[in-house]
Amino acid sequence: MFEKILISNRGEIAIRIIRTCRRLNIKTVAVFSDIDARSLHVREADEAVYIGPSPSPSSYLAYDKIIEAAAARGCQAIHPGYGFLSENSKFAAAVVRAGLTFIGPSSEVIAALGDKISAKKIAMKAGVPVVLGHNLPIVDIEEIRALAAEIGYPVLLKPAAGGGGRGMRMVATPDELESALQSAQDETRKAFGDDRIFLERFIGNPRHIEIQIIADRHGKVVSLGERECSIQRRYQKVIEEAPSLAVDAELRSRMGEMACALARAAGYSNAGTVEFIMDSHRNFFFMEMNTRLQVEHPVTEMVTSLDLVELQLRVAAGEPLPIPQEDVSIKGWSIEARICAEDSARNFLPSTGLITRYSNLRGRNIRLDSGVEAGSFVSVYYDSLLSKVISWGETREEARTTLINALNRYHVEGVTTNLNFANSILNHPAFIKGDLSTGFIDEHYENGEAKIDPPIEQLEAMVIATTVVYHNRMNLVRESLKPMAAKVGLSHMPARQHRYVVKGNENIFEVGLQGQLSSRHWSVTINGKEHAVIAPVFEFYRRRMKLSIDGVNQYFRLQYRQNFIWTAYCGISRIFEIYTPTEWGLAQYMPKEIKGANENVLLSPLPGMVVSILVKKGDRVYRGQDLVIIESMKMECGVSSPCDGVVDNVTATIGKAVETDEVLITFTT
Ligand code: ADP
Ligand code: ADP
Ligand code: MG
Repeated sequence: MFEKILISNRGEIAIRIIRTCRRLNIKTVAVFSDIDARSLHVREADEAVYIGPSPSPSSYLAYDKIIEAAAARGCQAIHPGYGFLSENSKFAAAVVRAGLTFIGPSSEVIAALGDKISAKKIAMKAGVPVVLGHNLPIVDIEEIRALAAEIGYPVLLKPAAGGGGRGMRMVATPDELESALQSAQDETRKAFGDDRIFLERFIGNPRHIEIQIIADRHGKVVSLGERECSIQRRYQKVIEEAPSLAVDAELRSRMGEMACALARAAGYSNAGTVEFIMDSHRNFFFMEMNTRLQVEHPVTEMVTSLDLVELQLRVAAGEPLPIPQEDVSIKGWSIEARICAEDSARNFLPSTGLITRYSNLRGRNIRLDSGVEAGSFVSVYYDSLLSKVISWGETREEARTTLINALNRYHVEGVTTNLNFANSILNHPAFIKGDLSTGFIDEHYENGEAKIDPPIEQLEAMVIATTVVYHNRMNLVRESLKPMAAKVGLSHMPARQHRYVVKGNENIFEVGLQGQLSSRHWSVTINGKEHAVIAPVFEFYRRRMKLSIDGVNQYFRLQYRQNFIWTAYCGISRIFEIYTPTEWGLAQYMPKEIKGANENVLLSPLPGMVVSILVKKGDRVYRGQDLVIIESMKMECGVSSPCDGVVDNVTATIGKAVETDEVLITFTT
C-alpha cells in the first residue's frame, strides 16, 4: 500500500479522500491556488503545496506543477478526485511517466471511455444496449436530417467529449436542427476544445440509473448496485439515492452484469460508474462511463458499508479486490442532497461570498461531506458545490425524513445556497411517491418554487415556532427590565392565553399561546387545533431552533427582521408578520408598500467578470433582451434589460469584475 499520496483536487472531495487516507495511515499532500491558501482541505492534509494563481488552468489543471510537487514531496501516487484532471488521459500518462501511480484506470482506457462515441462502440461490442442514434461525428447535415427523421423527433445532439451536461441540445423539430448543431459545436469547442457532435434518440421523461463498479488490475470486476440520479437540473444531478425504486433484484443483477461486461471489455481498473438511461418500460440503455470517483458515491457507501476510496487505493496499489460479488449486499436506503452556492430564486445564478456562519451537522444516520466552514470564501473560480448531506434509513421513507430533518438543521449563512430547494424536492408528493424522471424539476417547479402549495400542517408548524419565539423574546426583554423580586412574582401568576394573528404570504393564522417563560411546556392553538409544544428556555435568539410539537422533534431556521421573522422548514421559507389582535386591527390602515423604483438601470445580478457588452449608447432596447454577458463559476450568464428604453450610458467594462447590484447600464425611458 502507498505511504504518501498527493490529491490533485480541492473542496469536499479532497477532504473526503484525506479522511480515508488518515484511517489507512497514508500521508496526504494537498495542492492549493492563491484563493485557497486558507481552505479547509489545505489544513486537513498532512502537507500542502502552493501551485499557482486562482484560475484553474494555472493551478488545479496545471498538471506539470502538480506532478512536480508530488515527486518533490516523495509521493507514490496521485488521486485526482472528480472534475479537474480526473478524466484527463494526458495527465494520467504524465503521472505514470514521472514514475508515479495514477489512482484511476490507464491513460488509454480513460481516452477510450472519455470519448462518448468510442465508449458507445465498446459498449455495443460488449453486448450492452445503447440508445439508438448515429454514432459518428456529424459532418453532413443532410444525412443527419434524414436520419433524425427516421429515428423520430425529438432528437438529442451530444458532444463526444462532453461532461457536466454541457453542450447537449434537444432538438424538437427539423428546422431547429442546423442552428442547434451550430450552438452545440460552439459551446463544446469552448468547453472541451473539441467540437465533435453526435446524434441520439431523445428519450422522454427517462430515469437516470447508474451502476457503481470496482475493478482491480487482475481482471476482476464487481458491481456495487445502482444509484438513481433522476432529479436533475439542466442535466446536472441534484438529489441521488441508492437503491432505486425502479430496480428490483433481477434487474439489478442484469444491469450489474452489463456494467461489468463493459468494464472488462475496456480493460478497466479503478472505481467507475456506468450510466444508463431507463425509459418508462424499464428498458435501459448505456449513456456513458465515468472513469473516476463520482460526486454521489457516498450513497453507495452507505448501503454497502464499503469505502470506495479505500478500494480505489487498494486496486491502484495492485492488490486484488478484497470482496467477491456474492458478498456485496445492499442494506437499507440512502439519499444525498448536493448543496451548491446558487440562488434558486434568481434562476440558479451562482452566488459567491464569505460564509459567515456555518453549522456542522452531526446525528445518527447522517453524513456530511463538506468542503467549507465558517470563514470560507466561495469564489467565482471553481464549481458551486459546497457540500453534500447524506442520510441512511432502513427504508426509503426513513432515509427521506432523516435527510429532511438534517437539512432543517443545516445552516449556511453568507452565501445563498440551494438548501431550501433541495429540501423542498424531498418534501414534494411526487418525490415521496417515487415518481421520478429527469423532467421532474421542470414539471414540478417554476423559478425554484414548487408549483403546488405546501401542506398546511407544515405551515402550521412554522407558525408555531415563529409565534413561540416571538412571544418569548418579547417577554425576555420585558423581564430583563424588572428587578428580581418582580420576576419571582411573575412566575406565580396564573398562565393566561396570549393571542396573536400571524400572516405569511396570503395565509393568515389565529394563534393562541398558553405557557410560562420559566417552563418549557406550551399549549398552542392554531386555527382551532391544539398542539403540545416543548420549547427551549431562554434560547430565543438563535438561528436554529428545536421544538417538540405533539411529541415529534422538529428543527427550524430563523432570522429576525424587526417585527418580522423569516422561518425555513422542510424547503418552505416564509417571512411571518406577527401581530397582537389590536395591532392587527390597526395594520389594516397602514399604507401599502411603494414598489418599482430604479427600473431604468441595469444592475448586475451576480458577482463575476464582464465578458461582453452587446449594446452601445443610443441603442434602443427591449425588456428581456440580453445586454451584458457576465462569467461566473465557469458559466456565462446573460443579463437582460429590465425595461424598454434607450441606452443612456454603459458603465460596465469588458474584462472588469463586477459585484452584485453594481450598475452596468443606465437608460432613458
Ligand atoms: P456526471 O458527469 O455524470 O454529471 P458528476 O455528477 O459526478 O458526474 O459530476 C461531474 C462533474 O461536474 C464533477 O467533476 C463536478 O466537479 C462538476 N459539477 C458538479 N456539479 C456542478 C455544478 N453545479 N456546477 C458546475 N460543475 C459541477
Ligand atoms: P454528461 O457527460 O454531461 O454527464 P450524459 O451522457 O451522462 O452526459 O448525460 C447527462 C444527462 O443527460 C443524463 O443524466 C440524462 O438526464 C440526459 N440524457 C442523456 N442522454 C439522453 C437521451 N438520449 N435522452 C434523454 N436524455 C438524455
Ligand atoms: Mg453523465
